[in-house]
Amino acid sequence: MSEVLVVIDHADGEVKKPTYELLTIARRLGEPSAVFFGSPDKGDAVAEKVKAYGAAKVYVVDDAQIKGYLVAPKAEALQQLAEKTGPAAILLPSSFENKEVAGRLAIKLGSGLITDAVDVQEGGVTTQSVFAGNYTVQAKVTTGTPIITVKPNSAAPEAADGAGTVEAFTATISDAARGAQVVATQPRQSTGRPELTEAAIVVSGGRGTGGNFEPVEGFADSLGAAVGASRAAVDSGWMPHAFQVGQTGKTVSPQLYVANGISGAIQHRAGMQTSKTIVAVNKDPEAPIFELVDFGVVGDLHSVLPAATEKVQERKG
Ligand code: FAD
Repeated sequence: MSEVLVVIDHADGEVKKPTYELLTIARRLGEPSAVFFGSPDKGDAVAEKVKAYGAAKVYVVDDAQIKGYLVAPKAEALQQLAEKTGPAAILLPSSFENKEVAGRLAIKLGSGLITDAVDVQEGGVTTQSVFAGNYTVQAKVTTGTPIITVKPNSAAPEAADGAGTVEAFTATISDAARGAQVVATQPRQSTGRPELTEAAIVVSGGRGTGGNFEPVEGFADSLGAAVGASRAAVDSGWMPHAFQVGQTGKTVSPQLYVANGISGAIQHRAGMQTSKTIVAVNKDPEAPIFELVDFGVVGDLHSVLPAATEKVQERKG
């Protein structure tokens, strides 16, 4: 069976959930091999984790020559690894950085590229939502090695036994690829909540909050969810832009999306309509958001959400 390279998403060796989702998807296309860009002394611990999701091999690429630079060295390293292994496909978690890596890699390998897939089926047929969510497209790479970036929450991670054999891979990074260096990074202030684009549950608020996000945040925290916002809420200065969901904000695809006081404008839908289950709370029964929900509550979010939060807390005991 051909190898499928899966780039591991991690923070200093802490493997993130999208990696396990990708390993699950990779098994539909071949035998997953995980690629760890990081410190070699973390390789064994990372291998143990990804092996439990079917990784037969783990390539440890020492990132000493990669991490201090922008994306070019990573693309070069992946090119060399792909040329050595001849994979059936290369999967990367969709992020701004990985999409740039994937684009460069596609050029280097002369391969086709699909970004922001929300599903990948056997045979490499992907599903994407395009043109601000106006179309859902099934596509397939027909040239070279399929390179696919996959959005978080596109599959439920399924455990599987993999050998998890660790292999060091040394890439030769050109001077040209190291032409731009990172001189400083500032970690984002932590909210203590999951990252919006990776969260399994997102609870969002819109203009209907009237600027009071407490009910939205309280409900989100009871579910261990991320908080999102519509542009109207962001433009009103109630939430930072980093929380905005939609065409000019972030695209989320969680298992559960709860829209509160959000009318359901097309630009908002563009960022959340691939969510697996959609719930809306809105006091207007004619609000367009109700056209796409699985469950709708007609009511005032300021009373519905505290009541729902109480119920969740009761269940948790
Ligand atoms: P509104 O449309 O004003 O809806 C508020 C809703 O709250 C109403 O349905 C109302 O019935 C309900 N409500 C009021 N009070 C309560 C209450 N107490 N309890 C329950 N319900 C209540 N929008 C985005 O969200 N994301 C984007 O990325 C984005 N990008 C855009 C890009 C462009 C180029 C353009 C032109 C627009 C973009 N927009 C975006 C804006 C978008 O068109 C809408 O204006 C915006 O989504 C509306 O936000 P909203 O639903 O919170 O507000």
